[in-house]
Amino acid sequence: MLNEIFSGKCPACSGAAAINAALCDECMSLLHPFNYFCGRCAFPLLWPGASCYRCKGKLSKRITNIYALYHYDKVVRNMILQMKFHYHIRLKYTLKQLIFLPNFITKYDGIVTVPSHFLRHFVRFYHPADILAEYAAYKLNIPILHNLKRVRYTKFQSHILRADRKENVKKAFYCKKFKSHIKNILLVDDILTTGATINECVNELYTAGAGRIDVLVFAK
Ligand SMILES: [Zn+2]
Ligand SMILES: [Zn+2]
Repeated sequence: MLNEIFSGKCPACSGAAAINAALCDECMSLLHPFNYFCGRCAFPLLWPGASCYRCKGKLSKRITNIYALYHYDKVVRNMILQMKFHYHIRLKYTLKQLIFLPNFITKYDGIVTVPSHFLRHFVRFYHPADILAEYAAYKLNIPILHNLKRVRYTKFQSHILRADRKENVKKAFYCKKFKSHIKNILLVDDILTTGATINECVNELYTAGAGRIDVLVFAK
């Protein structure tokens, strides 16, 4: 285990990396934080003037703001896949070094993480979304709320066709009613792709009494 943390191996490409570095220099240079945002809704864009995923109506109107830290490209994909499907303590360390918080314009009453299925906890040692949520909860000094549960086993979204993803997560979550002072929620997940999972969770949070819902993801 210690070997894994302290080996000079890059957790994204397995190339050589400095012992305490998050990633090797090349992967680090390929990692793109977002610099451009939609002029209408502030959704992160890959390049200036790119068509906005959110304004195209693919995401729930109940989401007020979405914050994404990095582009979901090769380096991030490799990192997250390694982390989800293998025991990789070095990746936890890496992820912690790469996380930062955007300038939130709202104060939140609590953080909710998109839950991984309990069965998956046996095969997956770290849920990357939990690491991001713990960091945000600590920095913002707000609680992590465990109201949202996965109630049905679903296939991994990454293993099925985009068109079927909405059906796959339908009624997969249940959210226990929030206490009356809980209004503003920050919903955290690792990756945003089609938005099917996020939309489903947002509907549940809304039904459970959430007022404003913003979303924070590591990559999109
Ligand atoms: Zn690398
Ligand atoms: Zn937009």
